[in-house]
Amino acid sequence: MPTRDRGEIMLDLVYDEVRMEMNPDNDDCPTCGGEGVIFECFDGFCIDAEIGCDECTSRCPECARRNLAFARAVRKAVIESDDVDLARAWFRSINRPHGNITDAEIKAQMATARAKLEQEESDAERDRAEGEGAAGAAGAQLRGQPADPGSAAGEGSQHPQDQGPQGEKG
Ligand SMILES: [Zn+2]
Ligand SMILES: [Zn+2]
Repeated sequence: MPTRDRGEIMLDLVYDEVRMEMNPDNDDCPTCGGEGVIFECFDGFCIDAEIGCDECTSRCPECARRNLAFARAVRKAVIESDDVDLARAWFRSINRPHGNITDAEIKAQMATARAKLEQEESDAERDRAEGEGAAGAAGAQLRGQPADPGSAAGEGSQHPQDQGPQGEKG
């Protein structure tokens, strides 16, 4: 079993955490079913439209989107950890040259990246808030209901009993 350094172990934990957060049920990609590629073959034009041919095959856009979101979330977690070991393992994982960089330089880079992230997030927050404000502007107009004047009057008014003229005999 190859020995792994502390940073690599931490990076694995970050991967697990991000994966759990983004895809808790570990669902396959709904677009390609986890193949990572899609094809748009035509029956009759392609050799086998069921399998897909090289000509019509392209990378799944949904997988690309997920991968990008995953990579971003990992990057964010690494930056926020402020952990040099983790950062070095992450640099290796994305093939970024880091051989001569010192711990202090890594720390400085993470601080810069963190400040930038926070800025981006507060910008996004502000954009969201502004969007919601505009949407909520259409309020219902309340009209004053006309006051009901004599709700007390009515029922109890008694008519004097109609009395026919008395003594009238035919
Ligand atoms: Zn094809
Ligand atoms: Zn896919």
